This record gives sequence, C-alpha cells and structure tokens, in this order.
Amino acid sequence: MRPAKRVAVVACMDARLAPARILGFEQGDVHVIRNAGGVVTDAEVRSLAISQHLLGTEEIMLMQHTDCGMLKITDEEFAQRMEEFAGQRPEWDAHAFDDLEESVRASKRTIEGSPFIASGRVRGFVYDVDSGELREVT
Ligand SMILES: [Zn+2]
Repeated sequence: MRPAKRVAVVACMDARLAPARILGFEQGDVHVIRNAGGVVTDAEVRSLAISQHLLGTEEIMLMQHTDCGMLKITDEEFAQRMEEFAGQRPEWDAHAFDDLEESVRASKRTIEGSPFIASGRVRGFVYDVDSGELREVT
C-alpha cells in the first residue's frame, strides 16, 4: 500500500502525460495525484497530507507541461462559461495560468505555506509534450 519510492507526484490530467513513467517510476513506486493543470489547491493539500502522514511519502514532485489547456483560458472566462451553463458561477476557481514555470513555483509555495505538509523535499518540473524533454524548475 505504501509507495515504494516514498514519492508523491502532482501532475496535470492531460492525456498525453504518463507522469510516473516520465519520471522513471514503476507501478507501486509513487502516488500520482492528478488534476486540470497539475496545480496544488486545497484538494491536493489534503491528498498530499494523507500521502505523507498515513502512507509514508517524503518527497513531492510537481509536473506541469507545455501546451496545457489551462494556459488557454482565464479563471474569469471559465467562470462565465459555467454561469452560462449552470446559471451560477462556481465557488472555486479554474486555476488557469499564463506562465508555466511561475505556476509550478506557485504550487511549490502553496506546499511550503501549508502547516500540514513536510516541504523539505519538493521538486517542480515542466514536461515538453513535443520533445518529451523534462525540465526542472528551480
Ligand atoms: Zn495540462
């Protein structure tokens, strides 16, 4: 049940990404927490806290990618679209972004700012969906 490599990965849900494989992990090695954009919100803080405190992970890897759908809208545009669809705006933001590396850094800061997550070992990456290159965000 415990990830063998003690790593939790937060990654975008984009179908072109196989986050564990890209990072060189096998089945059973890591937790993979996915969402639109690969951003860290309260939902990911919850999963990361459970991953660390109940299931023993110690390192966090964040993975976002080029050509992400979340680069192509704004929170306001998405809220308007929801309002047209549902007659009301959502209580949550879409968490769109226009700067990939800055978005990775913002997620890092969210983790570092959470009292519930050990943030000593957090690394962020951008995956290039065209070249297959993985670049660390420092
Ligand atoms: Zn994406």
